[in-house]
Amino acid sequence: MATKHSFQTEITQLLDLMIHSLYSNKEIFLRELVSNASDALDKLSYLTLSDEKFKSLAFSPRIDISFDDKKGTITIQDNGIGMNESDLKEHLGVIAKSGTKSFLSQLSGDKKKDSALIGQFGVGFYSAFMVADRVVVQSKKAGEDKAYAWVSDGKGEYEIGECVQEDFGTQITLYLKNDEKHFASRWEIESIIGKYSEHIAFPIYLHYSEVVSEPQEDNAEDKKEGTEDKSKKKEKLEQKQKQINSAKALWTLPKSELKEQDYKDFYKSFAHDNADPLRWIHTKVEGNLEYTTLFFIPKSAPFDLYRVDYQSGVKLYVKRVFITDDDKELLPSYLRFVRGVIDSSDLPLNVSREILQQNKILANIKSASTKKILSEIASMAKDENLYKEFFAQFGKVLKEGLYGDYENKEKLLELMRFDSQNREFISLKSYKESMPKEQKSIYYVLGERKELLKNSPLLEKFANKGFEVLLLSDEIDGMVMPMVGEYDKTPLKNISSKDALDEIGDEGVSEEVKKEFEPIVAGFKDTLGEQIGEVSLTSLMQQAPLSLIKQDDNPMLAQLFAQMGQQAPKAKPNIEINVNHEIFQKLKNSQDKDKIAKVAQLLFGSALIAEGGSPEQGGEFSKQLNALMIEWLNQ
Ligand code: ADP
Ligand code: MG
Repeated sequence: MATKHSFQTEITQLLDLMIHSLYSNKEIFLRELVSNASDALDKLSYLTLSDEKFKSLAFSPRIDISFDDKKGTITIQDNGIGMNESDLKEHLGVIAKSGTKSFLSQLSGDKKKDSALIGQFGVGFYSAFMVADRVVVQSKKAGEDKAYAWVSDGKGEYEIGECVQEDFGTQITLYLKNDEKHFASRWEIESIIGKYSEHIAFPIYLHYSEVVSEPQEDNAEDKKEGTEDKSKKKEKLEQKQKQINSAKALWTLPKSELKEQDYKDFYKSFAHDNADPLRWIHTKVEGNLEYTTLFFIPKSAPFDLYRVDYQSGVKLYVKRVFITDDDKELLPSYLRFVRGVIDSSDLPLNVSREILQQNKILANIKSASTKKILSEIASMAKDENLYKEFFAQFGKVLKEGLYGDYENKEKLLELMRFDSQNREFISLKSYKESMPKEQKSIYYVLGERKELLKNSPLLEKFANKGFEVLLLSDEIDGMVMPMVGEYDKTPLKNISSKDALDEIGDEGVSEEVKKEFEPIVAGFKDTLGEQIGEVSLTSLMQQAPLSLIKQDDNPMLAQLFAQMGQQAPKAKPNIEINVNHEIFQKLKNSQDKDKIAKVAQLLFGSALIAEGGSPEQGGEFSKQLNALMIEWLNQ
C-alpha cells in the first residue's frame, strides 16, 4: 500500500519552477542524476572500506542507463548506497541544504528572474521534472531488506510504497513529457554523457537494442540467380550494452599511482591531440580551499590560439562532475594554450557563468594556478632546447601577459627571450649581466624583420658603444614593450627615443660643422618636405650615411587602432645625417641644389627600403637610380 505525502512548501515552489519555467539547458537533468548515482556509489565504496558490516559485500560499482523510445522513458540505475523509506522522505521531499533554502528565499515570483537563479544552485534530483511529468524512484538501501518505490508527478505530492527489488541500489525512471521524448535515444544519451560525465569515475553502461539480421541458411534450391530473396533473411532484436564513459577521473588519483604514460594517454584523449604534452602539473590542494588541478602544456599551439573566439582549454569540474568548458576566465587569457582540469570541492554544482565570474574561490584557484604554471614554464627554461621549442610556439602569446597581468609581470619578464644584434634567445637577466658599466638602460629596436633591424643605422650608434640592442619584430612588441617600463630596476628604452639617444651622448656636432651643413639640411627639408620631420646631424655613426628616427608610436593609440582592425597612422620619421660619411664629405662642398635634392631623395628612399618599407614614389626613385647608373657608366 502506497501512502501519500506532501512536499515541503519550498519543494513545491521549486518544482513549480522546474516544470513551468523556460529552462534552456534541460539536458543537464541526466548529468544531475548520474552525479547522484556516482555520489551513491562513492558512499557505498567508502562503507565497504571503512565499515565492518559492508566489508564482505560483493560490490562492483556501476551505473546503467536504459531507455524505451516507444514509451519515452529513461532509467538510470546504480548499485550504490540506496535509500530506505525515511531517506526517500527526507532526501526527496524536504530541502536539507541551506544553500537551496537561501535560494528559495531569494525567489521573487518573477519567473524569468527566478529561472535564472535556478541555474546558480544545485537543483539536483528535482531537475528530472524539467523533462519528465512522472518520476519513479525505486530503491533498496545496502544492508537492509525492504525496497521502496517513490512516485510523483511533481505537483505537490508524492507516494511511497513497498516494492520488490533484488539488489541494493537505486533505479530512477523518467516518463518524459511529450516534447522531451527525444531524450530517449541512444545518440542523445551517449552525447550528453560524453559531454558531462565522461570522467565520472564509475563505468556507465548504456543498454539498447539493435536489429540484427542473421545469416541466411544456405539453401541452394531456393536461390534464384541474380536476385536476393529478402524474405528468407531473419531479423531479430538483440539487447546490447556498451560502456559510454572512460570512467577515469585521472586527476583525482594520487600522483604516486600514476605513471607518465597515464598522463600522456589522458592528455591525448582529453585534448584530442596526437602528440604528447611537453609538461604537466598535477596539484592537489587541501585545507581551507580544496581542489585539484591538472594542467598540460601542449607541444604545439592549438589552431585557434590567435582567434578571438578561441575555445578555452580548461574544464571546470565540481567533485568530478563536469560544469563547463567554456569559461575563459579560469586562467588568464595569455595562458590560453594550457589544457586541463580544475576540480573543486567547494563550488556548488550547476554554478552559473555569472556566478563563476565573480566567484572568490575560483579567483583564488586562478591566481594559484597561474603561479604554478608560470613556475613550471620557468623550470622548462632551464633546458634550453626544450624551452626553444616551447617559446617558438607560445612566446608571443605569453608576451600578452606583460600588459595585462601586473601581478606576475616580473615572472613573465624572466620568461621572455630575445635576439640582439649579436646573440640569440637571450633572457633579460643575461642581457643585464653583460651590460657595460656605463650602460644605463636596456635598449631595443622595433621593426618588422630582424635581419633589417640588425642593419639599422640607429642601432649602429649603440653597437659602437658596446651596447646590446634587442631586436623586436613581433607585432605585439610595439604595444607591449613601451608599457613594460623596466626590468629589475633597469628601464627599457626604444633606441629611437630621445631618452635613449641622450644616454649615448649624441649631442650632435660642433657649430662649425653645423654651418658647413646648412645648405644640405635646407636642401633635404625642401626636397623631402612633408615626408619627414626634423633633420639633424650626427658624428656617431660609421657605416650608414643617414638614419631614420621614428617617433615612438603611442602604444595606447596603436592598441585602439588594432582593436578596430586598423593600423595606427605612422609618425613621420626624423632624419639624421652622418656628417662623417663620404657622401656628405663630398656633398658639403657642393653648392649644387639639384645635386643635393637628388641625394636627398635617393638616400631617403634607400633608408626606407633598408627598413623593409618603400619610397612613396617608387617609380621616381628607380628612375633616379637608373639615371645615376648611366652617369656612372659614362664616366
Ligand atoms: P545533492 O545531490 O546535491 O545532495 P540532489 O537533489 O541531487 O542534491 O539529491 C538529494 C539527495 O537525494 C541526495 O543528497 C541523496 O541523499 C539522495 N539521492 C538522490 N539520488 C540518489 C541515488 N541515486 N542514490 C542514493 N541517494 C540518492
Ligand atoms: Mg545531486
